[in-house]
Amino acid sequence: MNIIVCIKQVPDSTQVKVDPKTGTLIRAGVPSILNPYDHFALEKALEIKAKTGAKVTVLSMGPAQATAVLRLALALGADEGVLLSDRAFAGSDTWATSYALATAVKKIGQYDLILCGQMAIDGDTAQTGPGIAFHLGIPQITFCESIDANGSQVVVKKLIEGGHQILEADLPVLVTMTMPHDYVAKYPSFMAAHKAQDKATYTWTAADIGADPHKLGLEGSPTRVDRIFPPPARQKGEMFSGSAVELADKFVEILKKESVIK
Ligand SMILES: Cc1cc2nc3c(=O)[nH]c(=O)nc-3n(C[C@H](O)[C@H](O)[C@H](O)COP(=O)(O)OP(=O)(O)OC[C@H]3O[C@@H](n4cnc5c(N)ncnc54)[C@H](O)[C@@H]3O)c2cc1C
Repeated sequence: MNIIVCIKQVPDSTQVKVDPKTGTLIRAGVPSILNPYDHFALEKALEIKAKTGAKVTVLSMGPAQATAVLRLALALGADEGVLLSDRAFAGSDTWATSYALATAVKKIGQYDLILCGQMAIDGDTAQTGPGIAFHLGIPQITFCESIDANGSQVVVKKLIEGGHQILEADLPVLVTMTMPHDYVAKYPSFMAAHKAQDKATYTWTAADIGADPHKLGLEGSPTRVDRIFPPPARQKGEMFSGSAVELADKFVEILKKESVIK
């Protein structure tokens, strides 16, 4: 069984800010991490590997420094890493990104299960996983909190409003994973990281995967981002105390003052 986990390097969201003048993210000096949803998806893939002997390949698209998340994944137990890195990919929106990742999956060739995070904590769109499934023409199940697989099927717990569904699907399938609220990511030991240095990583360009250059970068991206801005800070609330009648009177007085009622 062959599992491909799509992993993205993201800025640590607790430290990133938006430049109010340019509307762009201030990434300078902000440490990068493995997207937490992808970390969880990778751990699930490694659990399936431990049970079935599956091969786990991690796939990422990003600049050269994204190799760091591949190395982390290999130290955690993945078998091979592939980085898509090329100027041709720059400026890709989720449509072009999912095309590039799906084209790389086709080049990897053998895949039964593709795991993605539910979303990346910087882009936050949750579109890339479904986009990859579309480009590959395979079924998808999104927003899953747990997964089990044998050589021919997966069984997942998919969260829905007010509950969950247990779903079975034949392979090949793409599943996006969300994390339980109490999830704590595992990190490799120094020895595991050292041993993983011999594992193979490949860096592929757009030409290496045979991607159509018109479907990549800004040219291949139908989305246009007009503006990114932090939401305006909320005004401090005012607290009132008194009896129910006093509070109701106060409420009516404020509504009149704000011309909500006459
Ligand atoms: C118009 C436009 C222009 C953009 N230009 C740039 C740009 O110039 N430079 C830039 O860095 N970004 C750019 N982006 C952002 C880029 O599109 C997103 O980073 C990317 O498409 C992933 O989307 P997301 O972050 O919303 O991921 P989501 O869809 O929320 O991610 C879901 C899952 O998909 C997988 N995934 C997502 N991205 C990757 C990846 N790169 N590699 C492997 N797996 C992945 C992961 O498993 C992840 O958990 C641009 C976006 C838009 C809309």
